[in-house]
Amino acid sequence: MSSEAEIDALARRMARVAYEFRRRFPLETAPWRSGHYLIPICSYGRPAHKVLIWHHNAGCAWARKAGCTMCNFGERRDVPPEEIILADFEAELRKLDPGTRFLHLGPGGSVFEAKELPAELRAKLVSTLKILPFLEGFGLETRANTIRQDRIEQLLDLLPPHVTELALGFGIESIDELVLRVAVNKGERCAEFAHAFNEILAVQRRQKSRRVIADCYVLLKPPFLTEAEAIADAVHSITWAYDRGADTVTLFPNTIKRNTICAHLASKTDAEIPYRYQTPWLYSVFEVLAGLPPDYRRRTRVLGFTSGNPYVGAPRACDLCWHVLHGLIAAHNYTNDPALIGAATELRCSCRDEFLRELSQPAPAPLSERLAAYIGRLETEFGLPVGGAR
Ligand code: SF4
Ligand SMILES: [Zn+2]
Repeated sequence: MSSEAEIDALARRMARVAYEFRRRFPLETAPWRSGHYLIPICSYGRPAHKVLIWHHNAGCAWARKAGCTMCNFGERRDVPPEEIILADFEAELRKLDPGTRFLHLGPGGSVFEAKELPAELRAKLVSTLKILPFLEGFGLETRANTIRQDRIEQLLDLLPPHVTELALGFGIESIDELVLRVAVNKGERCAEFAHAFNEILAVQRRQKSRRVIADCYVLLKPPFLTEAEAIADAVHSITWAYDRGADTVTLFPNTIKRNTICAHLASKTDAEIPYRYQTPWLYSVFEVLAGLPPDYRRRTRVLGFTSGNPYVGAPRACDLCWHVLHGLIAAHNYTNDPALIGAATELRCSCRDEFLRELSQPAPAPLSERLAAYIGRLETEFGLPVGGAR
């Protein structure tokens, strides 16, 4: 257990590494200015889809400055005038099945962050949703520290009357302060997640006609963690989110995206594990699902295989098992059938043996000690004062 002062000191050092990393490896232009894809969900016990859509935007302000260690969302310097953003977004909506029931606005940043999306433009984008006559549920993505009751209320006023559910989606990644602030470099604290819940639940209690719900995102395997630590961390974080009042949680098995600290650490082929980053095994997804109480497991989706910014390194399994395991994950999202966990753990393959061997490896040292040493190596590499000294 690390003291608050120790975590603060490590978080400051990690943030400095991330700022320097971003200076040396700026973000690339996002590949699409607006777009959408389908997310598999289980609605009233039946397979269904939710549309994830995004509009032309500048990208996540935090990613541009330093960013989370696994993320490269952003950036676009060619953001057009408002009329074009709105026309593009409406054209994207018109490409959808007119019977679309669930839509999630995921711009790869924060819908409630004025630097990324001014309030007037947000209002105009939300107002265009009226062209979907069967829309039941609308969700959005935003950093926890941007969630406020007045912003939620404004949104509720703008939503078409036939929308009966508003989901506020925010990444908690890990509820372990050391993992969150140092390994993920989230730039937020766990207290901000608790505050976001308070804001959402306060609006929820006042609402008579609509459900206002929290939808949290948890990361499976931030850098520097062993496979076993990552599984335990994800189970703990998902459980915390539900205990706190989340309606749904999405688990993201980490991938490798260009120009991220995870990608940089994955390229260190001479370094030892877990300093050298390796994505989680697909088998670990099922360990996490198996570690949750049945009601929490049923409400947990597993996503991240499709993205507006495609990955260059996938979660692991051998070529023979990868598609089977990925298919079982998609089936879980569509059906929530607990038998899928058994189907995954019954696979007999040398890659499963390798996974089990890795799972049984003890951590080389306590996490806080390792983080201090790992950050020291990055500080040396990037020409920063080691230990954060000025
Ligand atoms: S994970 Fe979210 S907050 Fe972090 S850099 Fe990416 S978009 Fe920004
Ligand atoms: Zn295999």
